[in-house]
Amino acid sequence: MLIDMTLSLLAKICDGQLMADDLLFTDVVTDTRKVAKGALFVAIKGERFDGHDFAQDAINQGAVAVLSDRDLPNLPYVKVANTVDAYGRVARHIRDTFHGSIISITGSNGKTTVKDWLAQSFTGKSVLKTRANLNNQIGVPQTLLELMPQHDVAVIEAGTSFPGEIKKLSYSIYADVVILTNASGSHFEGFGSLEGIAIEKGELITGAKETATVILNADDGFFDYWYGLAAGRQVMSFGFSPKAQLYAKDIQLNAQSSRAVFCYQGQEVNVEIGCAGKHQIANGMAVVLALMATGVVFVDAVKVLRVPVQVKGRLERLATKNNALLINDCYNASPKSVEAAIDVLTMQPVEKTWLVLGALGELGSQRDEIHASLGRYANAKNVSCLVSVGPIAAIAAEAFKAAGGEVVMCQDHSEAAAVIQPLNEAHAILIKGSRSSQMENVIDIIMN
Ligand code: ATP
Ligand code: MG
Repeated sequence: MLIDMTLSLLAKICDGQLMADDLLFTDVVTDTRKVAKGALFVAIKGERFDGHDFAQDAINQGAVAVLSDRDLPNLPYVKVANTVDAYGRVARHIRDTFHGSIISITGSNGKTTVKDWLAQSFTGKSVLKTRANLNNQIGVPQTLLELMPQHDVAVIEAGTSFPGEIKKLSYSIYADVVILTNASGSHFEGFGSLEGIAIEKGELITGAKETATVILNADDGFFDYWYGLAAGRQVMSFGFSPKAQLYAKDIQLNAQSSRAVFCYQGQEVNVEIGCAGKHQIANGMAVVLALMATGVVFVDAVKVLRVPVQVKGRLERLATKNNALLINDCYNASPKSVEAAIDVLTMQPVEKTWLVLGALGELGSQRDEIHASLGRYANAKNVSCLVSVGPIAAIAAEAFKAAGGEVVMCQDHSEAAAVIQPLNEAHAILIKGSRSSQMENVIDIIMN
């Protein structure tokens, strides 16, 4: 938004103290490299740097003042208890001046996919969306601060890495439409259990407008819980059984696309989906309901799914020098997303399928059991060979082997790349692992 705010208003919004002359600021930045004349510099303590150390630099570069949670003698500043929270409040203030629709998405899997698919599907509208994966307590306010009067819609991804984060994000977003894709076993660390995760995701509903529309996955075990949280807000549900308001049936999954019949209030429409995998049909239904929540009619909304969504590092189809199909899904991994990707891998019309797996992180005490169950899942789906990288992924390989499968257990990325390198067009290879496993290194070695 075109920001034009006084420091005294800022202090009021943030319950802070004005320690400067009451000047106007016209931009809000957290990175000193982006400070221009007239900006407010928000000093945030991150993992590696503390923004407060750069307060003087920011002022030298033309910042009007610093939003700080420390005393900054000799500098103009507004003192608050917590600058991250204050940043979220400034974002909310800007959000309140926006008259378009704000759609926010959370869930364990599919947030970025739904976000990008939805954002590309609004024809003739000006859309602001979360860039890349900027879905946390810094990225969400940053995105909201980019709202401009000409935007019709904003599509905001909300992620979480500690209990309470979604509650804060939800306050800033104050969504008109909320989408909860699902809750599954990712990031147990910090949340303790699946219930803990579902409660955290549910905060996006609790913090939405009272008039918001809430889009829920009817097949998720926490559907009833989230439905309760909607507390009178309109709920729209999607799923694969008639208990959902929008449900898909007669599903045909192909190597690069799918077909289904979408049923909504007695209407049935044949739908072409430009992406592979049943999970993309679920994501597609969420997209359709979000479009409908903003006024698009059902038969038009389903048409957008013909155009595929491509998120980098997510089921990205590449060809190796030897013409093997390489499916790059190494951006991140949760147990459910590994299963979804295996489903797509085993659908490819090739002689042999390979799963190159790095460790999944943040699983707490369930780590070993989850890796073993993924090994068994890959075997049940007839993956031809599992190539594990590192000792934790080797747990999956052991289970795969115990179920009768062929495995190669590698110590590092280059060993795995050497296994894959010679494969030709008769092979499809899925590369997958958590962010921390950096499985893109395997791809870099094979491709370069
Ligand atoms: P992150 O928490 O990393 O931001 P995200 O929720 O944004 O993840 P996406 O980036 O859309 O999720 O997809 C991540 C992975 O999850 C993809 O690799 C895909 O294979 C898988 N996936 C996407 N949608 C679903 C779904 N509805 N159910 C299960 N798996 C899914
Ligand atoms: Mg994401």
